[in-house]
Amino acid sequence: MAELDLEGLNGLKRSHYCGTIRLEDAQKDVVLMGWVDKCRNLGGLVFIDLRDRSGIVQCAINQETAPEAFQKAGSLRNEFVIAIEGTVAPRAVPSTNVTLATKDVEIITKKLHILNPCKPLPMNISDEQLPDEGLRMQYRYLDLRKPRMVRNLTMRHRVTKAVRDYFDANGFLEIETPNLVASTPEGARDYLVPSRVNPGKFYALPQSPQLYKQMLMVSGLDRYFQIARCFRDEDLRADRQPEFTQIDMEMSFVERDDVLAMIEGLVGHIFRETKNMEVPAHFQRMTYADALEKYGSDKPDLRTDMVIQNLTEAFGQTGFAVIDDGVSKGQAVKGFVVKGQGGATRKEQDLFKTFGVAAKLPGLFFIANTSNGIKSSLLKFLGEEKAAAICAKAGAQVGDLLVLAVGPSKELSVALGKVRLDIANHLNLLDPNEYKLLWVVDFPMFSWSDEENRLVAEHHPFTSPLPSDMDRLESEPLTVRAAAYDLVLNGMELASGSVRIHQRNLQERILKCIGLSIEEAEAKFGFLLEAFGYGAPPHAGIALGLDRLTALLVGESSIREVIAFPKNTNGVDLMTGAPVVVTDEQMKLVHLQYDL
Ligand code: ASP
Repeated sequence: MAELDLEGLNGLKRSHYCGTIRLEDAQKDVVLMGWVDKCRNLGGLVFIDLRDRSGIVQCAINQETAPEAFQKAGSLRNEFVIAIEGTVAPRAVPSTNVTLATKDVEIITKKLHILNPCKPLPMNISDEQLPDEGLRMQYRYLDLRKPRMVRNLTMRHRVTKAVRDYFDANGFLEIETPNLVASTPEGARDYLVPSRVNPGKFYALPQSPQLYKQMLMVSGLDRYFQIARCFRDEDLRADRQPEFTQIDMEMSFVERDDVLAMIEGLVGHIFRETKNMEVPAHFQRMTYADALEKYGSDKPDLRTDMVIQNLTEAFGQTGFAVIDDGVSKGQAVKGFVVKGQGGATRKEQDLFKTFGVAAKLPGLFFIANTSNGIKSSLLKFLGEEKAAAICAKAGAQVGDLLVLAVGPSKELSVALGKVRLDIANHLNLLDPNEYKLLWVVDFPMFSWSDEENRLVAEHHPFTSPLPSDMDRLESEPLTVRAAAYDLVLNGMELASGSVRIHQRNLQERILKCIGLSIEEAEAKFGFLLEAFGYGAPPHAGIALGLDRLTALLVGESSIREVIAFPKNTNGVDLMTGAPVVVTDEQMKLVHLQYDL
């Protein structure tokens, strides 16, 4: 790059942000600073699109009226950092870009200062198309110049601001909890940090602030929240990050419904503040058992109905071996209605069948209720009358398609739940601008882990069982329901929380249920058990995923788009190269040796 005459600011002060200038500012003298988004030379006239965080404005440099600036403009390239001194004027030639906020104005440049040049770029900032993700991560500081990313990070800021305002107004204290902790079990592996001053000992990074926020309740702090960074060493599926952010809260002297109401208020406030949108004051509620039975998922997407129904009885004996044999083995026939798809072509039905195969269903059957009568490959077994009765039972009206399968009841619902979503997606029934919020309540307390050969807590072991189920804790633990709740938005788990245990003896019982001996419980959670002996109030709480919520609000499908510096699916930060090899010296200091 040729040597350039670079200038310092020398006292020059920015007067406006580029994207904020409007017609009302005409005749004003302005000082703008930013990056050259584009530069066009039309003979005696140079046009610079100058960009900063707020947007872009056009700056015109006339050879006759600003000869010095015009001459300097000759060396400008994309992403040079410059300052412009000039006067706002109505735009001589109207912009063709109607979405440009500054389309009616331009800056008649008097002086141009080149503050810093820019090398040829690895990616085009103004291009709406996103380049390869690896390149974006490596040059994240350039990627973040893109208006889309500025919008995403601005939304994230506005969400956290709304959260802070809301909790503050409701008497919550924002309290930080440590990042170097003893392990907090949330079902994932811990990231470990060796202690230099305590040879052979490790901190864990918190999987969540769970135990600390409970301790704060024992302290009497009553209402706590935190925008908390959590770390979980999990296999990184597409949309998981090793570190992510929770909107974490806990309240004392409350029951489940108090927490749900507080969060309904919070979510309403966030939507109002960030999207100027109203959501219902109270969200629909569904038990975990119903969600699984009717939608085959503990996070049903309610943007489409298509409720899964058990039609075993309506089918009865059919003479069709696949169904009869299944039913005689105790399996169920279940299905759902797809409105208006009675006329689905053979090709379309075949496509639906591939969704069934992907969901590991051995077969998918259809009954189409058409204006020319019922059409189905099952008709020869069922006969018109029974087929019509099945349609009536399922609510498949003329014009509708009934999608059916047979299998073991629970697995069948789960598989049909997947097919339901695939069909809904295929038919564009899931409107990205619709927000369906749902509480799923009464989760099971435990599930069985084959891997660990023991019961594990479905939520975490500090969750209270429902009082009505308490007496089955030891005898039938898998039937015990927890006072746990999830907030689901458009088929995604947005938040998870529970009423907590606050009595030592119940906490000990639960730890025993998940296979901890008294000694192990004491060693791991002795401080918690002891704290419960010093007057722990009843308390409950929840945590919302900030990354997921922000992504939903800006319509991004990946949380990486709303995290300033995310890691890739191998957990690598491509910009800094973390994780990196450390020196032998550093290893020695923390008393570690390799065993690779
Ligand atoms: N600590 C829990 C989690 O991270 C949330 C809660 O129960 O408040 O899922």
